[in-house]
Amino acid sequence: MSDSEPFETIPCSECQAGKMRRQYITYLTWLGDELVTVPDFPAWVCDICGKREYDGSALNRLALILSPNAGKPPTKFRKAHLRRESRKASQPPRTE
Ligand SMILES: [Zn+2]
Repeated sequence: MSDSEPFETIPCSECQAGKMRRQYITYLTWLGDELVTVPDFPAWVCDICGKREYDGSALNRLALILSPNAGKPPTKFRKAHLRRESRKASQPPRTE
């Protein structure tokens, strides 16, 4: 048991009986005709019906990263934690 880490759950919006727990799963999305996978993406997963709901703020950040207009946030809601990665898919991974 860990008291230091509160077990955060929210009631499931699908089955009403389950509890959705925070988990990190792989997020899949299509960008044009390219499949983008984002590992360790925060989401809520129901322990009863298995419904998955991706974390809203994480989705927003992802949208910023994937958007060609990244860097032009519509609101002042801008987290400094977000490392701006505007690298194109054709670019090779960073080398020292
Ligand atoms: Zn459920």
